[in-house]
Amino acid sequence: MSDTKFQGWLGKNEESVKGKMEWGEFEPKKWTEDDVDIEISHCGLCGSDLHMLKSGWGPTPYPCVVGHEIIGKAVRVGKNVKHIKEGTRVGVGAQARSCLQKDCPDCSSGLESYCGNGVVNTYGSVYPGDEGKSYGGYATHNRTNAHFVLNIPEGLDSADAAPMLCGGITVYSPLKQNGCGPGKKVGIVGVGGLGHFGVLFAKALGADRVVGISRKAEKRDDVLKLGADEYIATDEDKDWAKNNVRSLDLIVCTVSSDKMPLNDYLTMLKTKGTFIQVGAPDGGNLPPINAFTLIPNGIKVGGSAIGSPAEIAEMLQLAADKKVKPWIQKRSMKEANQAVIDLDAGRARYRYVLEN
Ligand code: ZN
Ligand code: ZN
Repeated sequence: MSDTKFQGWLGKNEESVKGKMEWGEFEPKKWTEDDVDIEISHCGLCGSDLHMLKSGWGPTPYPCVVGHEIIGKAVRVGKNVKHIKEGTRVGVGAQARSCLQKDCPDCSSGLESYCGNGVVNTYGSVYPGDEGKSYGGYATHNRTNAHFVLNIPEGLDSADAAPMLCGGITVYSPLKQNGCGPGKKVGIVGVGGLGHFGVLFAKALGADRVVGISRKAEKRDDVLKLGADEYIATDEDKDWAKNNVRSLDLIVCTVSSDKMPLNDYLTMLKTKGTFIQVGAPDGGNLPPINAFTLIPNGIKVGGSAIGSPAEIAEMLQLAADKKVKPWIQKRSMKEANQAVIDLDAGRARYRYVLEN
């Protein structure tokens, strides 16, 4: 069973983001009986993959195989694993490990993605205790701790389910946790890979009105077709901020650039409204926030990081029940380099999924 060869697209330096990943073998983390080996059928491309390939969020421990929207078949299941059966369809998102200790305030309350005792990411992390490095899904196989391996509900297509595992949950969690639902008007800023899921899930959760907010008018038709009730093009709609002042209960912002009109977005919140940032710019800095934007409306600004395995399972079930259909473009695993270049150039409508 352990003679599986793990092969994938290796990023060896910062140039790899320019379509220079190299196919080769890699040594997965050391096997434990808490792990699952997955034969990968699909892996979505996430903006994080680009940041990691080019060391945008700090030095990457090269060689690195990116990809954290993994779907495949469980081909080896550790003895301690109860919920995964060999041969079944499973998935892994952006997180591969947390401390899982009973006295951890986060892990013990279903907040694994916020664990303060050491989160291991699905790729580009080094495991504690000599277990090696984590490698992602632009590959033939993946090995991950079973706590973060999920069963995929029937009725969801594998290629559709893959990008939900990071892109989907990153927006589903803040929507759910901040009251998106009937009676609410919700804005999604940045309608790209993440934001298109924001529109889909805000509607699936039953929000009264969903407003897509992006720079260019050319996306308007797409965003309305996705199910948004309104669209705002901030580069082109004159006086958009003034015309939409105090109109939204909740905003989820997926923009990962520090060049965004943040204070204008905040003026769109109703009294006591909430703004949640999920996009992470290289370097991490956001534009300065003016206190007089916050105080007179009593608004809150916060952040959100992916979601727990239980929350991912809940999202997948909602997607299956409500027939949420992401807009994806399938690419062959062989053309991962070109797919990375295209993603970086902003060509994805709205998520690429690699297929083995
Ligand atoms: Zn991601
Ligand atoms: Zn923990």
